[in-house]
Amino acid sequence: MPTIRKSKWIWDGLTGTEEEAIRAEAAFGSALALEVRAATKSANDLEITALLGGVCGRLSGCVRNKRRAFRCEALRDDSPNAMALPGGFIFVTDALVELCGRNEAELAFVIGHEMAHIIREHAWNRMMKEAASGVLSRAVSVIAARAGPLGGWLREKGMALLQSAYSRDNEQDADELGLRLAAAAGFAPGGAIALLQRIGQLGQQHAELGQYFASHPSPKERKARLEALCRQLAK
Ligand SMILES: [Zn+2]
Repeated sequence: MPTIRKSKWIWDGLTGTEEEAIRAEAAFGSALALEVRAATKSANDLEITALLGGVCGRLSGCVRNKRRAFRCEALRDDSPNAMALPGGFIFVTDALVELCGRNEAELAFVIGHEMAHIIREHAWNRMMKEAASGVLSRAVSVIAARAGPLGGWLREKGMALLQSAYSRDNEQDADELGLRLAAAAGFAPGGAIALLQRIGQLGQQHAELGQYFASHPSPKERKARLEALCRQLAK
């Protein structure tokens, strides 16, 4: 299979050691991140860049697996959204940063949640499943051959894949680990509750809250599940 030969890192991801798999994941994530940057606008706001970098850095320091690295970038977009790419790349829209009132504790929950999707390999596993089914192997061969518009492919299939819903279990897992990371990094766990409450209230009036929150379990349900953990972490 020439596609597999060309894309050694995908192959490593399927068959290699943990270290090789993490390297393969990072190489693939970094290729995807280039495509995301090409298809979107950067927020170009120094305060937001510093805010996200600071929160992401503190959360990363609490991740047990030191082989993993994370970076968080801000995109200019009117719709509140966040995205986790394999390999540690996180994108957050400036609209979501504003929805959090630029509040560190709320952003720590948002970024921690996306980080958890990466740590638990929800993002990577989904890509691997696509690779196995052949959709992704075409994209991978395009990256490898540096020919053809991967941007076009990504806009049609990749972005949809990145933003399509994770399973309910994956979301609960990401909420819980995200909140634990935020608390471990010294952010007030109550930030998560405040954010989910606000989204719940807005959701009744504003359908334009967008796809991101629509693709997650209801804010009311998420808040109810996290309140007990919050009390436990606040002790
Ligand atoms: Zn999620």
